Amino acid sequence: MKNLCRVLIFSCALVTTATAHSVSEQNDAIAHYSDRAVELLRDAVSRETAYGQGLVPAYAESLRQVFLDAGFSPEVLTIVPYGETASLVVRYEGDGSSGRRPILFSSHMDVVPADPESWLRHPFELQEDETFFYGRGVLDNKFDVTLLTTLFVWLKESGFVPNRDLVIAFTGDEESFQETVQQLARDYRDLINAEYALVVDGGGGVLNDAGEAIQFQVGFAEKTYATFSMTAKNPGGHSSMPRADNAIYDLARAIQRLEAYTFPVETNEITLTYFARTAPLLNNEVGDAMAAFVADTGDEEAIALLRAQPEYVGTLGTTCIPTMLSGGHAENALPRAVTATVNCRIFPGHTPVEIMRELQRVADDPALEWAVVGVPVASPASSFNPEIMTAIEQSLAPIHPNLPIVPEMGSGTTDGAYWRAAGIPSYSLTGIFINPKDSFAHGLNERVPKAAVTDSLRFWWSMVGQLAGDGSPPVQ
Ligand SMILES: [Zn+2]
Repeated sequence: MKNLCRVLIFSCALVTTATAHSVSEQNDAIAHYSDRAVELLRDAVSRETAYGQGLVPAYAESLRQVFLDAGFSPEVLTIVPYGETASLVVRYEGDGSSGRRPILFSSHMDVVPADPESWLRHPFELQEDETFFYGRGVLDNKFDVTLLTTLFVWLKESGFVPNRDLVIAFTGDEESFQETVQQLARDYRDLINAEYALVVDGGGGVLNDAGEAIQFQVGFAEKTYATFSMTAKNPGGHSSMPRADNAIYDLARAIQRLEAYTFPVETNEITLTYFARTAPLLNNEVGDAMAAFVADTGDEEAIALLRAQPEYVGTLGTTCIPTMLSGGHAENALPRAVTATVNCRIFPGHTPVEIMRELQRVADDPALEWAVVGVPVASPASSFNPEIMTAIEQSLAPIHPNLPIVPEMGSGTTDGAYWRAAGIPSYSLTGIFINPKDSFAHGLNERVPKAAVTDSLRFWWSMVGQLAGDGSPPVQ
């Protein structure tokens, strides 16, 4: 049965034993699966799946059991171990009638650490008030792991057969080393291969202070995260007999030259569309600057104003900033080595080595030693995909008609960057609507609006109907 509208009736029938289709039956089904999602979220939050705790594999196993219970066969559920963590890959087999390659849904099971001492509520117990659920991971990213799991269970229990395979990849170390996504892309390509990936981690609806939805963001690209070390060396000596040259002075001069430098302004289709669509929503001088910049990307006044806003400076080009200093070995010795760590967010289209060469040129001291820290991953921007954009528009329409859909370029690195680097176009979005001020992802007292459970289920149900069903949006 492919028609998702009919499936919805069928699923309602399962829940209510009614045979006729009605709004109240749909609501019963949504309420039922929303309750199940909250119970799954409660279990998810109770698991401290931070790096080093070794608790991701058990979480993956518990989710695998949920899929088994819903009728997925063991052959389509794969746990891929990786050190102390693991990934879970789930394949929802379609009938292949669309002739299209699979859609990959990607979220992560791990969380950043949380210290119970500093939280108002215990981070590893799902807590709630009237408006929010609280707990580590309720926003990033256990909410969407839970949501996708519940969605697949709902679709399966409804008897839905997609017209192409749907694949879930729940990774296990997105918040630390991001090696599980690389392992899947490299060693388990057959499992995860897809026409494109929907990275259900980031993007989504933006609420203003009045609680009104003002835009829906979709991530099309991410800047490359790269870190460099810059070291000044010196023969050293005793501080009672100072030399004229000193590693700290040398490094300080180089840092000042970096401070005085800004990388050139750059644009692409994503950033220009982002500014064009965000400008009218702001209705202030920042919005005016965005509009002026879109009209003339050489407008110095607009550039200066946008660069002064920490939330927008990264959209204008590559940024690099010193973040750590180390050096010296004794208070009465001249330092033999002093190192600054410089963290960069590189605009798509440049390699980390290219940016390091530029920093070397600006630092203007051939005696400095430079190194790349870690392994940066550069990923191309994903091209516009009208099919996905239309599906989003249709899926938002019943609750948020005519909401501007705004492409964005992330300044961090999520698993999406690795899917893109592996040649799978990736789009970051979630069904959550939240005021950025309420988003405490990675921080204390992380929260998610309770309304997001039901709204997200509706949203993703419709998305699947658009992208892998008969194309017509399910009745809301
Ligand atoms: Zn995340």
